[in-house]
Amino acid sequence: MSLYPSLNPTPRLLLGPGPSDAHPAVLRAMSTPLLGHLDPQFLELMNQVQDMLRRVFLTTNALTLPISATGMAGMETCLVNLLEPGDKVVVCAKGFFGGRMIDIAGRTGAEVTVIERPWGEVFSMDQIREVLQRVRPKVLGIVHAETSTGAYQPIEELGKLCHEFDTLLVVDAVTSLGCVPVRIDEWEIDAAFSCTQKGLGCPPGLSPVSFSPRALEAMDRRKTQVQCWYLDIGNIRKYLGAERLYHHTAPISMNYALHEGLRLVLEEGLEARWARHQKNCLALKAGLDALGLPYTAAEGHRLPQIHAIRLPAGIDDVKGRKMLLELFGIEIGGGLGDLKGKAWRIGLMGYNSRPAVVLVLLAALEQVLTRLGAKVSQGASVAAANGVYAA
Ligand SMILES: *Cc1c(COP(=O)(O)O)cnc(C)c1O
Repeated sequence: MSLYPSLNPTPRLLLGPGPSDAHPAVLRAMSTPLLGHLDPQFLELMNQVQDMLRRVFLTTNALTLPISATGMAGMETCLVNLLEPGDKVVVCAKGFFGGRMIDIAGRTGAEVTVIERPWGEVFSMDQIREVLQRVRPKVLGIVHAETSTGAYQPIEELGKLCHEFDTLLVVDAVTSLGCVPVRIDEWEIDAAFSCTQKGLGCPPGLSPVSFSPRALEAMDRRKTQVQCWYLDIGNIRKYLGAERLYHHTAPISMNYALHEGLRLVLEEGLEARWARHQKNCLALKAGLDALGLPYTAAEGHRLPQIHAIRLPAGIDDVKGRKMLLELFGIEIGGGLGDLKGKAWRIGLMGYNSRPAVVLVLLAALEQVLTRLGAKVSQGASVAAANGVYAA
């Protein structure tokens, strides 16, 4: 007799800002029996994971690998390896995750300059040029897809701009990879990090990172040791290199998951995957418009994979989300920071970006809003989304 029930949670549809549902094939891959982390078969699997990551990040960067921890560890890895005490760094903050970059950059002992935009807005190249000219930083950090606001930051030209000033560009691609284009080489990104549980259709647990040759040179020129042992890329390189020196026990099952997740991304094709996210975004948007829910991010700068909407007056944030969860098993996210209590965030990422998900969510939202007293035209949101699919 056990005092504890066996694990049997009610199924959920995970439509918040993450984690998103993992692809069923990924979950199957995770139940594969373990290999030793230095087993030749596992080493070959890791080579394939790195190779597939390069294809998904659109880079030839040799140093492209999954860090054994979640997306935040990728952020920390990029910043602690590139920054030393006294270095100058500019962080572009326009939401919650920009704030995290400020915190981590500050802990390295670097001199942090912050430029800001109101939540929901994005930076212009002119604003960034001005700060690069004024500060001449070693590193500039920016979030590509700001999950807290649903805003898309254009970064296509940013790498070139940074390199005019000898600045390294660090990009948070946690919510963008696998959903919208991330072109490391073409966009001249020096360090990027992502996660497994958003656009890649895997559970949380790994953080893919990639460093350009320019970033590696900067690491080689360091005068001080990286403050953090576990995330010191110099040590991790020895594990990945020919020496295969023991660094830490790679999380075997998570790497199985990432292997299958990346394989599925490449099988679908990057262009097709981005187009799928775009299509389901348009359908959801048509439905949300029909429900009368306005977006928090400025028009023209909205992410297809995160829809952040402002709640109508009188609709209680917590009550509404609780109802969605209890009646329909659907999880969505609340607002963060400036938008706490005022917004909902809906993620359609990776495996969850599908018509069936969009239609079920809209039908459920309509009921919840109606029960909470909002005036919504019955059936209109599902019809609007169907209209997009039919077109
Ligand atoms: C989710 C997220 C992170 C943090 O990733 P974790 O996997 O939760 O550690 C960082 N940046 C952005 C933009 C995110 O959306």
